Amino acid sequence: MSTQPNTTASSEAAAFEPGPILLLGAPGVGKGTQAKLLMAEFGIPQISTGDLLRDHRTRQTSLGLLAEPLLSAGKLVPDDLVNEMVKERLSRPDCARGYILDGYPRTLAQADWLDSYLGSAALPVVAILISVPYDDLLKRITGRRICAQGHIYNIHSQPPQVSGICDIDGTELGQRKDDSESVFSHRMEVFAADTAPVVEHYRTQGRFAEVNGSHSVDSVTSSIQSTLRHLRLQQSPVGKV
Ligand code: AMP
Repeated sequence: MSTQPNTTASSEAAAFEPGPILLLGAPGVGKGTQAKLLMAEFGIPQISTGDLLRDHRTRQTSLGLLAEPLLSAGKLVPDDLVNEMVKERLSRPDCARGYILDGYPRTLAQADWLDSYLGSAALPVVAILISVPYDDLLKRITGRRICAQGHIYNIHSQPPQVSGICDIDGTELGQRKDDSESVFSHRMEVFAADTAPVVEHYRTQGRFAEVNGSHSVDSVTSSIQSTLRHLRLQQSPVGKV
């Protein structure tokens, strides 16, 4: 069975102001799946820098052409280009109540840029790290299948009803180029070298929590939602939530 978001936020969730949320974690921990579910729950956009870059690649923009070999090899796109792309996306009106950044920041330079860009924004960033052991991630990544609209499945844990076909739109499912075992192992090295320091950066800021991503999708979603409300309540004693 696939886990796809509802399109309308619940009224209770609509009253809650989520603000900027960072979903952190290694490739394959489920950031994209969870971000889509949070987006549906809270009515705020998911901003995946990976999706934005893949869209540039499809449209063959100058950024897309530059990013293509880096995406295929699992290497990071230069910070200034990614920051500029994020800046443009955050300036859109749908980000006013908050947003979920998925796959960003991935380097300390990106985290520093984001911190200073947000400055004294009404609600500061909260960061949630999703953790899953390496071997489970490898299975998730190499089993991941997606359709052109971005609906995500896994041949081991979340297969479509008909093999190779999206339950939602009936289109063919494919594998991302960077979901091979060799590229995965390189992406994990990049995560350890560049993104692990970002996790520590937000851990020390105190608006941070770690969630065990090995449980079922629904159970991880509940943990993230309750953690998020808790972190925001801590920050908003005068009843922002
Ligand atoms: P993702 O879909 O988040 O796994 O990202 C796929 C690929 O897009 C990464 O392996 C990088 O090549 C590139 N990418 C995504 N987000 C970033 C980022 N914040 N900084 C640099 N490169 C990124």
